[in-house]
Amino acid sequence: MSFPPIHLHDTRRRAVVPFEPLEPGKVGIYSCGPTVYAPQTLGNMRSQLMPDLLRRVLLAAGYDVTYVTNITDVGHLTSDADAGDDKVEAAAARAGQTVAEITGHFTEQWATDRRRLGCLEPDIRPAASEHIAEQIAMVQTLEAQGHTYVIDDGVYFDVSTFPRYAEFAGLDLDELEATGRIDNLEAKRHPADFALWKLSPPGVTRLQEWDSPWGRGFPGWHIECSAMATRYLGDRFDIHTGGVDHIRVHHTNEVAQSECALGVHPWVSIWMHNEFLDLSGRKMSKSAGDVLVVDTLVDAGIEPLAFRYFFLQAHYRQQQEFTIDGVRAAGVALRRLVGHAVAARDEVGGRVDGGDPARTEPFREAFWAALADDLDAPKALAVASTVARSADLTAADRWSLLADFDRALAFGLADATGVDAAEVGGDDVGPEAQALLDERNAARAAKDWGRADELRDQLVAMGFDVVDTPEGPKLRRR
Ligand SMILES: [Zn+2]
Repeated sequence: MSFPPIHLHDTRRRAVVPFEPLEPGKVGIYSCGPTVYAPQTLGNMRSQLMPDLLRRVLLAAGYDVTYVTNITDVGHLTSDADAGDDKVEAAAARAGQTVAEITGHFTEQWATDRRRLGCLEPDIRPAASEHIAEQIAMVQTLEAQGHTYVIDDGVYFDVSTFPRYAEFAGLDLDELEATGRIDNLEAKRHPADFALWKLSPPGVTRLQEWDSPWGRGFPGWHIECSAMATRYLGDRFDIHTGGVDHIRVHHTNEVAQSECALGVHPWVSIWMHNEFLDLSGRKMSKSAGDVLVVDTLVDAGIEPLAFRYFFLQAHYRQQQEFTIDGVRAAGVALRRLVGHAVAARDEVGGRVDGGDPARTEPFREAFWAALADDLDAPKALAVASTVARSADLTAADRWSLLADFDRALAFGLADATGVDAAEVGGDDVGPEAQALLDERNAARAAKDWGRADELRDQLVAMGFDVVDTPEGPKLRRR
């Protein structure tokens, strides 16, 4: 199978466009990473799962992928309007801990939860506090080009010097001018102007601050991503991802400062944004006690990978309504898929090249074509599910396909352990199948092997395998 052409939705062009890498065969991806001052919620993890799926599809397509996601450990203020405290600094003060303790703890939680959700490790994971020199250099470049001005509390980007500023997010700057909250920053020339470097207030020593040409202080949040993406992916790169909440401010500002400092357009070929997890009133504020994290699922008896399955059930550009029951149901469906895959795998001794292409290739093409079409995960998952239960495919066919699909699904099918047949069949085998199974058990007890085999064949024709378990024969739906 030649891999289908990949099309992705680009926020900047507001369209699904063909993916064309800047350098043939290679892809650079940058994802805005966590601000490590609080637990990363399941909503945040959707912004991890989307680029992980993207990366896996590009790897399956044969690209050499470099995946960079950062750690924001300084500079992200509690308000997007450049006011308020630094989130990390405030959290450290609240907890009576050092900045290193806070950032270390929440970085670890994020990294652990990524792994539990089946995400590949980032190729590069830069921390903002370790790239101060690159950020200062970029601000100096912008200053030399006349894009900045200095006021009491810092160095600001002057959006009037970048005529394309409003284009990226389709902003109405006049409206912003009229309604913008300027807070304590009346010295800003336009409400959309944003901090590149914040100065420490006179007489105040902050927990994190550095010397700069403008005085002691710390970088603005937006410049961090521009500087780190450029450091590791070059002046232009292929794909930048993030949550939709970043489009209007954070990514608009990243584009402005990067295109000015680097003299490029477009800075990034494709911008991909995932929609929110819809909590329908369930509060997911990080300051609230009931923070919804991976451990919330585990405490409810749900395995973490159920959330990955749940994520794949909706397109990344759709809001997805979160309920515990929805994730629980995804977990049941996942277990069923794993059960079928393990049975097929074990039946063929793990051989992945045993299928008959005449039967397998249409499914293989349908699966990868769905993902190549702007990551249509629900469609791909439906193909996987059909394959797993198909009575028209042999075990060799099924395992050849499911092992291949798992490069994107990441359910760990190659190493998954056998599943209790009762768990797989559950109570939903139906009265007719159950009656046949009971009759077969009776025939076996009577040593009527011919009749027992006949009944087994009938069950197979109905789409069931008969599996021997310690509690006796059980049915497993294909
Ligand atoms: Zn960012």
